[in-house]
Amino acid sequence: MQAVSAGVTDRLEHLRRVLADHDYHYYVLDAPLVSDAEYDQLMRELIDLEALHPELVTPESPTQRVGGAPLPGFDTVRHSVPMRSLGNAFEPDDVHAFDKRVADTLLDAGLLKPGQQVDYAVELKFDGLAVSLRYEYGVLVQAATRGDGQTGEDITANMRTLRSVPLALRPGAPDLLEVRGEVLMHRADFERLNHAQAKRGDKQFVNPRNAAAGSLRQLDPRITATRPLRFFAYGWGLVQGAKGGAAAAQTDLFDPSPDLLSLPCDTHAAMLNWLQSLGLPVDPRHDIVQGGNGLLAYYNRMALERPGLPFDIDGVVYKVNALAAQSVLGYVARAPRFAVAHKFPAQEVTTRLVGIDVQVGRTGAITPVARLEPVFVGGVTVTNATLHNEDEIRRKDLRIGDRVIVRRAGDVIPEVVGPVPEVRPDDALPFIMPAACPVCGSAIERPEDEAIARCTGGLFCAAQRKQSITHAVGRKALDIDGLGEKLVEQLVDSGRVKSLADLFTLTRYELALYDRMGEKSAGNLVAALDKARSPSLGRLIFALGIRHVGETTARDIARHFGSIDAIMQAGPDDLLKVPDVGPVVAGSVQRFFAEPHNREVVQALGRAGVVAKPEEAASGALPLAGKTLVLTGTLPAWTRDEATRYVLEAGGKVSGSVSRKTAYLVAGDEAGSKLAKARELGVPVIDEQGLRELLGR
Ligand code: NAD
Repeated sequence: MQAVSAGVTDRLEHLRRVLADHDYHYYVLDAPLVSDAEYDQLMRELIDLEALHPELVTPESPTQRVGGAPLPGFDTVRHSVPMRSLGNAFEPDDVHAFDKRVADTLLDAGLLKPGQQVDYAVELKFDGLAVSLRYEYGVLVQAATRGDGQTGEDITANMRTLRSVPLALRPGAPDLLEVRGEVLMHRADFERLNHAQAKRGDKQFVNPRNAAAGSLRQLDPRITATRPLRFFAYGWGLVQGAKGGAAAAQTDLFDPSPDLLSLPCDTHAAMLNWLQSLGLPVDPRHDIVQGGNGLLAYYNRMALERPGLPFDIDGVVYKVNALAAQSVLGYVARAPRFAVAHKFPAQEVTTRLVGIDVQVGRTGAITPVARLEPVFVGGVTVTNATLHNEDEIRRKDLRIGDRVIVRRAGDVIPEVVGPVPEVRPDDALPFIMPAACPVCGSAIERPEDEAIARCTGGLFCAAQRKQSITHAVGRKALDIDGLGEKLVEQLVDSGRVKSLADLFTLTRYELALYDRMGEKSAGNLVAALDKARSPSLGRLIFALGIRHVGETTARDIARHFGSIDAIMQAGPDDLLKVPDVGPVVAGSVQRFFAEPHNREVVQALGRAGVVAKPEEAASGALPLAGKTLVLTGTLPAWTRDEATRYVLEAGGKVSGSVSRKTAYLVAGDEAGSKLAKARELGVPVIDEQGLRELLGR
């Protein structure tokens, strides 16, 4: 044992005080002040310190207790079998250590043979809140929250409003059954709920877990009834009079059984199936695995499934499968020794919103961007996140200086979920949209019926110029290799390139002077520019970056008019004659060419030797003229973009969904629902080879 310094006692006291405060906000008020990851870190520090100084552990320490006190206003329920928490594992080493502890104990107890691996029941760790349901003679008579583990809140009326909770069990129910499980909310339901709350000016929930907890712990069950809550069962408390069992048995996942023989099942996995057979919802992703490596394989499998699940999970749970083995392993203060929660890396953390910058897009759209104190979340360090638009900032009530919750799930871009208003500094400032563009100083305007504010500088604005040039040289437009964003930035900033046409006057000697450009890459770029001097007309139009004119529309317009001059002269009626062009696109094209500087860019391109080849007319000469194809799955040689380009060049169209009008479905590896739909509708299905034959490539 180590000598105890004053520093250690102070730190222990500090950690206990802070954690108790976080517990109160999280469990009692359903309004956490910090993210779970930050909480877990503090808790870990406390556990480690207490392990070094076991004589300083007190019964009140947050490491010894579960959850929080019941809310006033609810009746309380004393749990006949305590509802405990779970120990945590974060790293593979923690998991192997858990497996070793379990195996050693079971070996000693003679429940495992040397060299034999432990069987584990493995399941999702639902990120919701634990409840206990009491069924007497198959009828739901009481429901309670976990509370502090000994005493919870009586939420019977509230739980009765959940459709997934049976009010009566199916035949085969024991005389008495306490079911333990989790109440949660699907992410999509949570988004809808928060949206409706915002519309009414009501409280926003920070995540589905808080929304579920806040919705369940309502004194008025009519409110709970309007909330989309769901329930999954994962354990039992008291079980008496089970068919096939003796008269009374008291057991629980979280309590050793004095008489295991009286139970209807002898493994955790069998119990889950039995609960399901009684009509209780059990998530199907549970499994049985062997040993530490089996546990980690399940963890990895679920980590991949996690982004696609409709609800949040914060990890997976490993439980020794044999109930007899569970009973031998027993409990530490707040958690069983036979189970552990293996947590996923945090997807939500809190950090400080240092400022809100605005970025200018190709069409002048102004996007506010949150500047954040760097924070590690979902596997990356995040320093900024888009806030989309002014209304979004107002809806979330974000102020500069706020502590904010940042979420990054899977490969999704990071999102600022909302502020933690309880810790808002007095000097936090609301965001004000600047009146002038930070890049060119032109006025920023926001049409009344639009969400997006725009810089009115057009191509006068260097930011818009850079973006429009980057767009024009992209693969789907002029396809100029070796002209990345960084070089475009230098070319525009140096004043050398003011419009797209200027690119074509660059020489290899001057290009070689720019940062990170050698003679060789300058030479390659000039060759690429030369090659790009004769694009198809469709590509040239797409390259101009006219609002609402995508790749396909550009091609349709090119085919219809045949030359850039004809397009520049076209009136609205002429444009409306192009297949699939409506008033929005027609108006946008006309406005674009009505601008003298845009006409000047086209003329300058001509002077620089950029002459578009006419798009081949959509006639019978093109193999896929008038045909719509759908691509699905991974093709062996072509990327999706390449295949799309070839289809378009052959006069065809590419659509995202299969219908009776689809001429062919091109299916690659792992084709899914589209393939099924095509078969159902009798749409011909071909592979890449079939497509090559159609295209003559
Ligand atoms: P826990 O959530 O880590 O694990 C135990 C709980 O897991 C059970 O009570 C049950 O509700 C749930 N669970 C989900 N799936 C399960 C399954 N398949 N089998 C068994 N149980 C399952 O522990 P806890 O005591 O509920 O809460 C501690 C955690 O809560 C912390 O690690 C932290 O992440 C979070 N917390 C956060 C704050 C905060 O301020 N942000 C405060 C307190 C707690």
